[in-house]
Amino acid sequence: MRFVTKAIHVGEEPDLREGSSGDVAVPIHLSTTFARKDVEKPTGGYEYSRTSNPARDALEKKLAALENAEFGLAFASGMAAESTLLLSLLKSGDHVVACDDLYGGTRRLFRDVLQNFVEFTYVDARNPENVKKAIQGNTKLFWMETPTNPLMRLCDIEAIAKIAKKKNIVTVIDNTFMTPCFQKPLDFGADVVVHSTTKYLGGHSDVVGGAIMLSNETLYKKIKFNQNAVGAVPSPFDCFLVVRGIKTLRLRMERHDENARALARYLESHPKVKKVYYPGLPSHPQHELAKKQMSAFGGMLSFEIKGTAEDAKAFLGRVKIFALAESLGGVESLIEHPALMTHASIPEGERKRIGITDTLIRVSVGTEDIEDLLGDLEQALG
Ligand SMILES: *Cc1c(COP(=O)(O)O)cnc(C)c1O
Repeated sequence: MRFVTKAIHVGEEPDLREGSSGDVAVPIHLSTTFARKDVEKPTGGYEYSRTSNPARDALEKKLAALENAEFGLAFASGMAAESTLLLSLLKSGDHVVACDDLYGGTRRLFRDVLQNFVEFTYVDARNPENVKKAIQGNTKLFWMETPTNPLMRLCDIEAIAKIAKKKNIVTVIDNTFMTPCFQKPLDFGADVVVHSTTKYLGGHSDVVGGAIMLSNETLYKKIKFNQNAVGAVPSPFDCFLVVRGIKTLRLRMERHDENARALARYLESHPKVKKVYYPGLPSHPQHELAKKQMSAFGGMLSFEIKGTAEDAKAFLGRVKIFALAESLGGVESLIEHPALMTHASIPEGERKRIGITDTLIRVSVGTEDIEDLLGDLEQALG
C-alpha cells in the first residue's frame, strides 16, 4: 500500500466476522477492563485499558505504517512520549548530544528534570562534525529536530545516523514538523522517531498526544514495557481523534506546504521584512539538504520584521485571520512571538546566541484560502 492508502486503512480493517458490527471507523471502547472466559489468558486479547485497548491498537498500527516502521506506540502527549523514551534508553550517568535549537518543552525536560541524572551537550547540528566532536565515552543518544523550531535549521539525518552507528549511539529524530508525509527519518538510518501528535497528525487543534515509531524490536519491547509501567497513555477518545486526523494528513500537508511556499515568497519580497526562514526558499542556506531528505517543505516558517520589538508586537496586534497563539499544525493559521511566547523560558543571552531575536515572528500556516492569508498579512504589515 502507498502512503495515503495506509493512512486511511491500516489498523481499521472492518471486522466482518459473524456477530461483529463491521465498523468502518475504529470504535471507541471506553471500558477500562475486559472480561475473559479463561483465567489463564484474556479472551479478546485485552486485559486492562492502560496496557492496551482497541482504539490505541488501531492508532499504533497506523503510526508504524506511516513511518515505514515495524512498531508504533501512542502516548498522552509529545512530552509523555519523550520522557518514556528517555527513561527507556538512558541510565544514570549517560550522555546525550542534542541540537541547540530544540522545542522549548524538550529543552525544559532535559535541563530542569533530567539533568541530575543525565548529561547533555547542545551543538549546532547543521554541521554533523559538531555532533561528532561532542561524543564522549558515555554518549548513548543523539537527539535531533529537523527542521528546528523556530529557526527552521536542518540537520543531515543520514550523516548523523552514520556517525551514531559507528559508536553504537541511538539516533532519535523529532519529526513533528514534517510528519512522515514529507520526511521519513528511519529511511535515512535514524533509529527512533518521536512526534507530538497534537500538531499535524491530529491536525485540528483539538487533541494532545504523542508517538514513538521504530523498527528495533529490543528497543520496542523496553519502551512498550515502560509505556504500561509509567502509564502516560492517551484515552481511547484521544486515540480516535488522532486516527481520524491521520486519514486526511496528506491532503492537509499538501495545502499547508502550498500556502507556506506562497507566504514565504510574499514575505521575502516585502520591504518591511528583513529575513524569512523557510527551507523551501532557494535562499535558505540548507535548501539542497531540504530537497534531499524532505519531499516538500511543510507549513512552518519564521520571519524577522524590520524595526523594534514594539513594531513586532504592533504587527501581531493587527492580524485578524491568524490567531495569536502558541502551538502549530492545525488547519487554522497561527502566529506568535517566540521570544515572548514559546521560547520565553530560554534565558535571554542564550536565545540571542541561537538567533531568536525580539523581532522574530513564527507562523504555522493553515489550510485556509491563500488569498485571505496574504490579504491579512498585507493589511497587518501596512
Ligand atoms: C509540541 C511539540 C512537542 C511536545 O508535544 P506535546 O504534545 O505538546 O507534549 C515536542 N516536539 C515538538 C517539535 C513540538 O512541536
